[in-house]
Amino acid sequence: MKRRNLIIAATAAAGVAALTQGARAQAYPTKPISVIVPFSAGGPTDALARILGQRMGEILGQQIIIDNVAGAGGTIGVAKAARAAPDGYTLLFAHMGTLAVNIALYKSLPYDSQKDLEPVGLGGTNPMVLVAKKGLPAKDFAEFMAWVKANQKKAQYGMAGIGAASHLGGLMLNSMMKVDVLEIPYKGTGPALNDLVSGQFDYMVDQAVNVLPQIKAGNIKPLGVSTLKRLPQLPDVPTIDESGLKGYEVTIWNGFFAPKGTSKDVIAKLNQALLATLADEKIRVRLTELAVDLPSAAEGSPDALRNTLKASIDKWVPAVRAAGVKPE
Ligand code: ASP
Repeated sequence: MKRRNLIIAATAAAGVAALTQGARAQAYPTKPISVIVPFSAGGPTDALARILGQRMGEILGQQIIIDNVAGAGGTIGVAKAARAAPDGYTLLFAHMGTLAVNIALYKSLPYDSQKDLEPVGLGGTNPMVLVAKKGLPAKDFAEFMAWVKANQKKAQYGMAGIGAASHLGGLMLNSMMKVDVLEIPYKGTGPALNDLVSGQFDYMVDQAVNVLPQIKAGNIKPLGVSTLKRLPQLPDVPTIDESGLKGYEVTIWNGFFAPKGTSKDVIAKLNQALLATLADEKIRVRLTELAVDLPSAAEGSPDALRNTLKASIDKWVPAVRAAGVKPE
């Protein structure tokens, strides 16, 4: 073939490829989408993924199936998502613990959250609550702190593995209280909460989504909230900051991510479905009851989530290092 014809043939082939890709993205999704949740079923990450995923699936016209790949503080599930085919059929719903904080807590991670994942959109931010087993002899935060200080050899706190949100909440609390307490690791705070209700360990700091129903049912004691302002859902529970640990503040964002290399069209379609889900009145009411802060219009884009991830790495990696926790 002459050079000119070669160029024409190559251009035509590229055009066909682009058209096919465009058509494929338009048709997407043509089969169910799997969303990896890197913690056990029944916990807060799982609950939020299911609430959002169900509506997103209805909007996209395909079912969203939650795949709980729990263990190692969420790192096993995130690694699986990062290695999945970038075709839009395997996504990840994860929080800032597994994507940012754990950089300070592991000597090496099987993924780079900024390089191996493509942000889709923020799923909301949730405060945390310090909760204790009902039998713990403390009626407020000051009594709790005195009890932990006096019982360091036997006090135990629950968490969902190294780098989990409950680990961050607990380690910042313990470091600021200057106590050394035994960690009881779980694969998610769903199962941990069951054990706290039955009194198997003493306390935990976990997302409001998970603990509010058990607080309302009177099965566990709320002793402080992790935000600088009290929560409308728990108006009588003081903040940990106002109770004596000045500066204690931890809130946890969750977001949808896809493996690196997922096409821009697919990311845009998923982001639109997420934004439409977050604008749905029923979803807004449900999430607000669970103390989830919904993203503003400016916070909803994939790029905004990219910036949020970077900001969390910049904030938490030095903070956790300064708390003196040795990486595993
Ligand atoms: N709340 C958990 C955490 O500590 C995770 C979960 O079970 O959703 O990260």
